[in-house]
Amino acid sequence: MLRSTKIVATLGPASSDPETLEKMILAGVDVVRLNFSHGTAQDHQARAELVKQVGRKVGRTVGIMCDLQGPKIRVGKFKDGKVTLEKGQAFILDAACEMGDNGRVGLDYKELPRDVAPGAVLLLDDGRVVLDVTDVRGTAVHTTVRHGGVLSNNKGINRQGGGLTAPALTGKDMEDIKTAARLNADYLAVSFPKTGADMYMAGELLKAAGGKAMLIAKIERAEAVTDAALTDIMRACDGIMVARGDLAVEVGDASVPALQKKMIRMAREANKLTITATQMMESMIHSPVPTRAEVSDVANAVLDGTDAVMLSAETASGRYPVEAIEAMDRICIEAEQTQPLNLEQDFLNRVFTRIDQSIAMAALFTAFHLKVKAIASLTESGSTALWMSRLNSGVPIYALTSQTATRYRVALFRDTYPLVVKFVGHDREELLREAESVLLANGVVKEGDLIVLTIGEPIGKAGGTNTMKIVRVGEHRKR
Ligand code: PEP
Repeated sequence: MLRSTKIVATLGPASSDPETLEKMILAGVDVVRLNFSHGTAQDHQARAELVKQVGRKVGRTVGIMCDLQGPKIRVGKFKDGKVTLEKGQAFILDAACEMGDNGRVGLDYKELPRDVAPGAVLLLDDGRVVLDVTDVRGTAVHTTVRHGGVLSNNKGINRQGGGLTAPALTGKDMEDIKTAARLNADYLAVSFPKTGADMYMAGELLKAAGGKAMLIAKIERAEAVTDAALTDIMRACDGIMVARGDLAVEVGDASVPALQKKMIRMAREANKLTITATQMMESMIHSPVPTRAEVSDVANAVLDGTDAVMLSAETASGRYPVEAIEAMDRICIEAEQTQPLNLEQDFLNRVFTRIDQSIAMAALFTAFHLKVKAIASLTESGSTALWMSRLNSGVPIYALTSQTATRYRVALFRDTYPLVVKFVGHDREELLREAESVLLANGVVKEGDLIVLTIGEPIGKAGGTNTMKIVRVGEHRKR
């Protein structure tokens, strides 16, 4: 059965050999994520090549997403690699400290003393250790331990409520953007953006490096979740990732479920993509089956309307990477069967001003009411398929394209499936026949099925989609 929601899997030591990768792709991976927080440019290049190679071998279109590390807001190192902090003890974060001990530790993020004042709450190691700032003197941030525990080398620092001034793009990110362009990434995920300007800058650097990836903003800062900030960020990107790890630390874990729903709704309304990420199948790092709570989490993301659900450590370093994908696949499919279709409702309050977007919406509406077998969108850039995939119609959208880049991009769009159409002529009837044969050859329709086609005319001339056609497959052969 076709799965509407797409699966993004992070590659790492557990998933970089050809055999495992092949099993993962066959189990349903649509996009792989290369995490630039780990590994070298050569590692990422080699993984990207392997993905394309294995994808070609098994006949699947697997997109590549490069995920930038972003600013390293971290403590430095300890003499013994780690310390155990007790509740109530004093502890100093000191930008000038070389090697840490039980009383103080250095900072990779030297600006911290400028960003905090007494009363600020710092969350270390994803909130496992909590420090109350009592004083700031020169390079030293004095704190009292509120929640103690083990703190080891280079653990992350978040400030409750946000407010750290670290820029979204570091020097390393700028180099990594060049690597992403070189390896022909389909998606570039930017960590910790606060504004649309951060995304704009990443986009400009990518363009300058010759990259064509779609831009994904990882929403993980408190400053980024207001309606105004989200609107600003979404204007400057192609999609967002609900990056629940850092986000939960900054805004408090209990706020994340509602934020997830809000972000997915806003993104769909703005014709943007969404990826729901972090700890979706966390227990499967060690266990061959998910917990009940994880099953519900994945299903709820599907019902929220996410384009994709993402696996991180589960596939990068877990013991059961293939099983985690199989579990996600079956949970998504089952959840999709129960999702209500409210297309008329979804159309309310929507205004379509572009010709190509109006055709996309007309095609979707028609396909929904005629209960056609499929929508076939003959597309150059994939934008017609993107518009259609923002609303649930229950009808699969086949993006028929001769553009390789478009084929890989649409791999992330909900309800959308790429197919190659090789057509170079200008004859409309010939192109429609070619489209039908591609759909038939791929077994997605049979003779007599009703389909809705979208196309841009005149054929072969640049210009957007402006035509919709309802076709009974094989009819023209009878004429
Ligand atoms: C997150 O914080 O949820 C996230 C996806 O980012 P990363 O895994 O890169 O820290």
